[in-house]
Amino acid sequence: MPRRLLILGSTGSIGTQALDVVSRAPDLEVVGLSAGSQWEPLVRQARETGVTRIALGDPDAAARAAEAWTDGEVLVGAEGLVRLVLESGADLVLNALVGSAGLGPTVATLGEGIDLALANKESLVVGGELVMQLAEATGARIIPVDSEHSALHQLIAHERPGTVEQLVITASGGPFRGRARAELEDVTVEEALNHPTWAMGGKITIDSATLMNKGLEVIEAHHLFGTPYDRIKVVVHPQSIVHALVNLCDGATLAHLGHPDMRVPIAYALHEPDRVDVPVRTLDLAEVGSLTFEPVDDEAFPCLRLAREAAVAGGTAPCVLNAANEVAVHAFLGGRLPFLGIAAVIEATLEALPAQPVRAFESLYEADREARAVAAEQVAVHA
Ligand code: NDP
Repeated sequence: MPRRLLILGSTGSIGTQALDVVSRAPDLEVVGLSAGSQWEPLVRQARETGVTRIALGDPDAAARAAEAWTDGEVLVGAEGLVRLVLESGADLVLNALVGSAGLGPTVATLGEGIDLALANKESLVVGGELVMQLAEATGARIIPVDSEHSALHQLIAHERPGTVEQLVITASGGPFRGRARAELEDVTVEEALNHPTWAMGGKITIDSATLMNKGLEVIEAHHLFGTPYDRIKVVVHPQSIVHALVNLCDGATLAHLGHPDMRVPIAYALHEPDRVDVPVRTLDLAEVGSLTFEPVDDEAFPCLRLAREAAVAGGTAPCVLNAANEVAVHAFLGGRLPFLGIAAVIEATLEALPAQPVRAFESLYEADREARAVAAEQVAVHA
């Protein structure tokens, strides 16, 4: 019997690469797909995979999809996404949504005890403690898709508790690596979207340029592996060949290497602990020549520091950080905020909204709403 797979965010960068992986995986049957507003590619994917249920976040897009596609049911909005999770009969959900919109489907998946292949790191940034508690309560597994976390998951799988001293996540450094703060004042959206090693969706590409992506990943690693923040390090590695390392108590360091291709961690997350063939080049280190490493420049790229501070503050602070970042990145992509304004908006929003304790998911949704309103005001201030 094939495993029944639901792909949320199937029209995005991770979603389309996942469909590529699934096209070579007879052990997986796709049972549902979703998108935000891109209904035409979603309907095309529905026809190709033969699913009978799709969901669209945008109501107009959902109405148009329902007119064009009569082979199944079109669900609508945030509730539609959750219904898709609850009613698709999936054994495994791939959450490849972008942003905090991914939290509701993550909660629905884990609440049902369904295993989760998680690309949507924002779910863990926003609601890490509650999300991990929910997974533990229902016995559902979270298998990371992020390449660094997939690497860490594999590296520590066979280590006994207490043997791992430190986790090290690599960062490519993004398109502005090596630039001083003053040289980042006038960078354009086009330059920021030109990532040197990974082809990804717009939001994560900007997060990579600001290094907020590493901040989000430090928080993601903390929750996934239960590692204290002072034992999660980031090192810049421009070639993106080494994805992560673990330092062990006996002085050994294990590293995970490979050409940067998200189909590798996606395929692993969908089949773990088994491995399947993925058509990527075998790594030849003599051909690569040299692997280089350097520290993060915290002055030019303050977002990593802001993320660490919010992480240590805990409570609602990471949720506020994430919401402010989403608003600021959206404004930057829309030409309404300069590049350096992204960190400024996040810092001002965190200052305006000190961390509050989180007892239930509702307090996170409330903090998210409040942070978006404050961040929108701050965008106007820093425009
Ligand atoms: P994309 O922007 O390419 O795709 C996002 C997907 O989510 C699309 O299908 C989009 O639909 C859908 N979507 C967006 N907003 C909503 C919403 N409000 N409601 C419902 N659906 C929505 O993102 P990526 O694939 O790049 O990234 C997805 C996640 O994976 C992110 O959390 C990212 O950080 C993480 N990740 C991505 C990597 C990559 O290489 N891309 C690497 C590691 C992690 P539509 O097409 O209609 O807009």
